[in-house]
Amino acid sequence: MSIEANVSKELIKQLVDGTIDKENSTRLLKMDRKDKDRFFNYIAVLQERARWDDRILMRLGDKVYIVINAERHRVVKCECGHEFCDYRKNWKLQCKIRTRRTLEEMQQVYDLAPAVPEPGWQEIREFFCPSCASQLAVEIVAPGYPIVFEMLPDLDKFYREYLGDPLDDESSEWYQDLTHSVTQQWASEAS
Ligand SMILES: [Zn+2]
Repeated sequence: MSIEANVSKELIKQLVDGTIDKENSTRLLKMDRKDKDRFFNYIAVLQERARWDDRILMRLGDKVYIVINAERHRVVKCECGHEFCDYRKNWKLQCKIRTRRTLEEMQQVYDLAPAVPEPGWQEIREFFCPSCASQLAVEIVAPGYPIVFEMLPDLDKFYREYLGDPLDDESSEWYQDLTHSVTQQWASEAS
């Protein structure tokens, strides 16, 4: 069997499941470059596992995806089906957030004492899906630091220039950070 065939869907399934054997994982690591279809096969494996039919454009985390929903919007969606928001807004603002500020709170999740962040200078923020309660992200930042927008991909450019398969709803409007509109809304509601 050729390498190309071996790296198609079955092996990618094993990669996603974490069941790939050592021989195959070593072989993949030694390959010069990824085969051309790797991204699409990977997406196809994820799509088969999804509980919903929305097309996956990109995976942002273990359980978080950018998809095209039924209304043809590009949105961030949880594995459970919870839809967060337009992908141009920081989806973490729509999460349930637990913040660990004290030494006692931080020690609950840090084992070795030297590794524990320093209270007052740092805080741990844990982000949970409001529907399924899965922990979707964690960040450690200075108190008061804006919630980190981890990834705003230029999907049109990625699909057109890197994958050679342009999306059919390309627009110059897609690639922009709209997170400020969320905080603006919060400010207007509070005033
Ligand atoms: Zn969820």
